Amino acid sequence: RSRVSARIAGITPSATLAVDAKAKALKAEGRPVIGFGAGQPDFPTPDHIVEAAAAAVRDRANHGYTAAAGLPELREAIAAKTLRDSGFDCDPSQVLITNGGKQAVYSAFATLLDPGDEVLLLAPYWTTYPESITLAGGVPVQVTADESTGYLATVEQLEAARTERTKVLLFNSPSNPTGAVYPREQVEAIGRWAYEHGIWVVTDEIYEHLVYDGMTAESMPVVVPELADQTLILNGVAKTYSMTGWRVGWIAGPTDVIKAAASYQSHLCGNVANVSQRAALAAVAGPLDVVAEMRAAFDARRKRIVALLSEIPGVDCPTPQGAFYAYPSVKALLGKEIRGERPEDTVALADLILREAEVAVVPGEAFGTPGYFRFSYALAEEDLVEGVTRVGRLLAEAT
Ligand code: PLP
Repeated sequence: RSRVSARIAGITPSATLAVDAKAKALKAEGRPVIGFGAGQPDFPTPDHIVEAAAAAVRDRANHGYTAAAGLPELREAIAAKTLRDSGFDCDPSQVLITNGGKQAVYSAFATLLDPGDEVLLLAPYWTTYPESITLAGGVPVQVTADESTGYLATVEQLEAARTERTKVLLFNSPSNPTGAVYPREQVEAIGRWAYEHGIWVVTDEIYEHLVYDGMTAESMPVVVPELADQTLILNGVAKTYSMTGWRVGWIAGPTDVIKAAASYQSHLCGNVANVSQRAALAAVAGPLDVVAEMRAAFDARRKRIVALLSEIPGVDCPTPQGAFYAYPSVKALLGKEIRGERPEDTVALADLILREAEVAVVPGEAFGTPGYFRFSYALAEEDLVEGVTRVGRLLAEAT
């Protein structure tokens, strides 16, 4: 018998890990590596949130176990915040607090899927999605959209991938890794199609506040209200309030499914840390002006990085309208010679860029689409400029 279960042994090692480990090793040697890999805002958590957490630490009420589904005040505040921000109206009993958005993803699939159930997975996708589907016994069915449509998938593509076993569509707008934001009409068309075919929607709205160019993030069950009874909305405080380390996310959905997911959670991990829940309460019930300031900073960097990337021959960078990622195609550069090497895929090209330009980027293989790089622009603007300039100088040598 093997020491590790087949289920866990089957987890694909992240394609980002190799680059990440090398970047850290180079940094430890004192090399000036610039990292575009981090999927987290570089701002501190706003003061009023930190203060609420500090007070919570001293309050005995937070020292013991609390309800598995989450603190009642937080569930209530999230219901109110959801109505305020996306127009989705739900009762606090329809909200389950989870250990970050990541656990919301995992719990959503663990609660919805039976072995063999298929999930339509729009690619480029966030690395965690296929693993959480597979770990829950489901089968991810990849539907890929490329830069020619701004990484937006169509109903026709979804319909072509639909089978009798299709149970769920996983939707993420604004998207990690592309920054693509689905316009309202397309959200509506996809939502209507899912409703007609009795397909559940798991919609990850974690980047809802990070949209630019006057775009809005449309919530599918708001645009198509009849879909609400077969939709789970995933969200969290990590990206909006620069709170990645606090680990608070949530699922909002139909009461029966939320109850089932809460029962699962009661055995899995009990309640989410009370101090973090109190911090999340201060975040979601508090003002959005801090969010507007971070968004303005991201927007300036977004324009800068797209302009710089677009100047590099062989790099095709659609303008992302959300999140904090740019996702250029570098397909035109694969197989060309750079410093005596001929990288044939983006894992190899990312490795070359790390060694020769001392810049870390995440290859598209991590997101189901080789031929691309993900650049996170959650870093200081001078580092951003220096990093992309170094990449540009190296890639200009391609022959
Ligand atoms: N969903 C998406 C699309 C993400 O990019 C992330 C983080 O990278 C998450 C969910 C989960 O965030 P967290 O677990 O930090 O709340």
